[in-house]
Amino acid sequence: MKIYLESYGCTLNKSETGLYANKLLSEGAVITQNPDEADLRLIGTCVVIQHTEDRMLRRIAELSAKGKVEVMGCLSSVSAGSIESENIKLIGKSEFRSFYKGALDDIEIREASIFDGIPINQGCTGSCNFCISRVARGSLISRPISKIRGQAMIQLSHGIREIRLSSLDSAAYGKDLGTSLDRLIESVSSILGDFRIRVGMMEPGNTAGILVGLLRAYSSDKVYKFLHLPVQSGDDRILDSMNRGYHADAFRSIVKQYRSTFTDSTLSTDIITGYFNESEESFENTVKLIEDTQPEIINITRFSPRPYTADYNRKPPPTNDVKRWTAYITNLHHEIAGKKMQRQVGKFKKIYITEHGKNETSVGRDQAYRPVVVPGRHDLYSFMDCEIVDFTDTYAIGKIM
Ligand code: SF4
Repeated sequence: MKIYLESYGCTLNKSETGLYANKLLSEGAVITQNPDEADLRLIGTCVVIQHTEDRMLRRIAELSAKGKVEVMGCLSSVSAGSIESENIKLIGKSEFRSFYKGALDDIEIREASIFDGIPINQGCTGSCNFCISRVARGSLISRPISKIRGQAMIQLSHGIREIRLSSLDSAAYGKDLGTSLDRLIESVSSILGDFRIRVGMMEPGNTAGILVGLLRAYSSDKVYKFLHLPVQSGDDRILDSMNRGYHADAFRSIVKQYRSTFTDSTLSTDIITGYFNESEESFENTVKLIEDTQPEIINITRFSPRPYTADYNRKPPPTNDVKRWTAYITNLHHEIAGKKMQRQVGKFKKIYITEHGKNETSVGRDQAYRPVVVPGRHDLYSFMDCEIVDFTDTYAIGKIM
């Protein structure tokens, strides 16, 4: 059987689709890059905002005109079968959740090109009023440390030497098993050999509770000093309306401890602009938080009322205000990212080559998970010494020593 694969959205979603495809490979299927010649088209869907959901539905229609399609991801859970047809099969919520009760455990990760990470837990412990992911994925199910460690070892044995632990909220990991994320990271980083670990996004509310152990686990040379901590807003009134379960100063405190422990590090965060009760004052508080914490990466999303969520009937603020706020934060982000990347020029670094880029280049990651582009096609998962000679606001440019 020839399978064609597309996946969208967060790393967790892409990881699940990649693992499911690896399962089909272990059953004899082969990958094709051409959807026309495939026997099965697999699509990992995202519905985080209305615009994305519309795109997914259009893409599924295009693919199903070519033949059989299997739909995974959040759309398959929230569409309640409304899009199923002769050519379209949904991998629904219950099947989806069974992945985390053992079905994922024995899947061998053998094909790097379709691998995005190891899902460590399904769902979360939150109930944010804007979030459809919670609706699609349900409550927390964590996979046992031994199973994740086992899968990482198989992945390493196939020469894929960057382990991405993916989740909706990594900091919630193990709360249902009497363990925690720091123990998982320490277990995986205790595997012998040279490789790197990237830890997936985590919610500030749960992160605060495990911070001491987390910073200890992050101190391993194998763990990238990369923290993806979605804050969504810098205003406490907005955070309460979102039902986020923390205030802006809790985020500031986590970042302060993280930065003082790892002075050469990357902070990635998410901001929702134009939440239904956003005001000039709340917007200013978000700008202030960004200026105070200086995130290298800001993922900006405009508020989009989602079905099945508490915010479904909320009206976003006037479009011009939302556009203005979004543009301001986008420019502020580029300014911060550019300044920070410029400071890397002249520095000597050991980078880990993890992908091949355009025009005969390779992309490596430094200890802070910064992307560094170097000339030449070098062996994947090899370490290289380089000097940073130039920059853009999204990556550095290196010269191999
Ligand atoms: S945004 Fe909130 S509800 Fe959605 S996945 Fe994160 S913690 Fe869960």
